Amino acid sequence: MRQTNDQAVTQRLSAVTQAIRQAAAKHSRKMNSVNLIAVSKTFTATDIAPVLAAGQLQFGENRVQEALSKWPDLKTRQAEIKLHLIGPLQTNKVRDAVRLFDVIHTIDRLKLARAIAGEIASQARNLELFVQVNTGEEPQKTGVPPQELEGVLRDISPLGLNVVGLMCIPPMDKDPSPHFALLKTLASDNGLTRLSMGMSHDYETAIGYSATDIRVGRAIFGPRAIKT
Ligand SMILES: *Cc1c(COP(=O)(O)O)cnc(C)c1O
Repeated sequence: MRQTNDQAVTQRLSAVTQAIRQAAAKHSRKMNSVNLIAVSKTFTATDIAPVLAAGQLQFGENRVQEALSKWPDLKTRQAEIKLHLIGPLQTNKVRDAVRLFDVIHTIDRLKLARAIAGEIASQARNLELFVQVNTGEEPQKTGVPPQELEGVLRDISPLGLNVVGLMCIPPMDKDPSPHFALLKTLASDNGLTRLSMGMSHDYETAIGYSATDIRVGRAIFGPRAIKT
């Protein structure tokens, strides 16, 4: 059973890689300008093994606690692994997050940025950071409202964080294109180069809007048994 499942995962990963290659070519982009983050939330170290074995080194998790249960071991064995936090972060989890993750995609307020800056300094870590934008202005969603982005970026700039780009999660069941376009404009207006956008159902579209970091879970690992 396990063997069959490993093969299915490996095949899905290569189908995704192929689709990225085609989408990049279609938009005259280089394949290596698109960073594939394999989103392994809800999946175990055993599920992750074939993806690692296929050479995938960038992974995303949305919960610090869950990531702590599987990644320290894997990272010790393979130092090149780059781990991305793509879910909301509470300030009381910042210490663990800064220790374990290499990239945090979800800065959305000054208080959180301050806590991250403090931990980066005291742990002498070097993280890449994204500011999350609530492009759909959905009240239940985290992220900075688009009209507040400039102010938030200005407020956090004295902290000296390595802010590389912007991240968004477009509203469910809506055309993501205007959200990708908005994020692209906001990044360029603020001198930021990386765009974390695009998931299993829309990463090819995101590549057309210059996504640099796509976050793909189900298209690689298969359906999730647990709702996140
Ligand atoms: C789960 C998740 C993804 C991946 O979603 P899939 O539909 O499995 O590709 C991407 N981004 C975030 C923020 C997520 O929480």
